[in-house]
Amino acid sequence: MNKRFLAGAGAAAGAIGFAIYNGQYPTAQLYGATICRNPGAGRRIALTYDDGPNPTYTPRLMEVLDRHNAKATFFTIGRWAEREPGLLRELTAAGHALGNHTHTHPTMPLCSAARVSDELRRCRAAVEAAGIEFSRAEGGMLMRPPYGRRRPGTLRTMRADGYVPVTWSITCYDWRRTATEAKIAERGERAAEGDIILLHDGSNLVPAADRGNSVAATQELLGRFGAEGYEFVTVPELVAA
Ligand SMILES: [Zn+2]
Repeated sequence: MNKRFLAGAGAAAGAIGFAIYNGQYPTAQLYGATICRNPGAGRRIALTYDDGPNPTYTPRLMEVLDRHNAKATFFTIGRWAEREPGLLRELTAAGHALGNHTHTHPTMPLCSAARVSDELRRCRAAVEAAGIEFSRAEGGMLMRPPYGRRRPGTLRTMRADGYVPVTWSITCYDWRRTATEAKIAERGERAAEGDIILLHDGSNLVPAADRGNSVAATQELLGRFGAEGYEFVTVPELVAA
């Protein structure tokens, strides 16, 4: 794993805070290296979307991305993937990257190793049944733990199963009930060179959640950063840059 991806591990925190920090914070690295950003990537940003595919909002998002010649990375939930194999094929055919976000979106640190493996396997089976594969970076298939939560055991299992965990460096809180287009975009505008932005095109609770605000905020971010000469790339492209 390249040192560029290794962020600081919050050395000032107390023992309990330290464990919480490393189990939940997206840039924490104590429990094993995770792709969270690439500060050496120059004027490149990776947009990532979790919890889809969403029959209404994933296609709308693809239109917006296409209009700005932007590529993104989608972390799909297996049980939603089973319902939308055609949409998954369209995503990858359009040049977007695809990663595993488990089959049912459990809190992984609470799962046995066997359950973690089974969640990853079932999501992968849904994607392969659609005739496509997960994208790869740093020698593994892209995987995002639900809620960004992980611990040494779950990371070991993910790696043994061939995955590289991907978290993020900028969160837009677009899942909050109080999230508006303006609030989501304002969060995203804090991004800088090499950041990975967390957004959602779906929800782990229902297959066709309203993500209109996330799509509108994406359009704003594409316009704003595009005017500054930024390029929107997939996670494998960001890592390789
Ligand atoms: Zn999720």
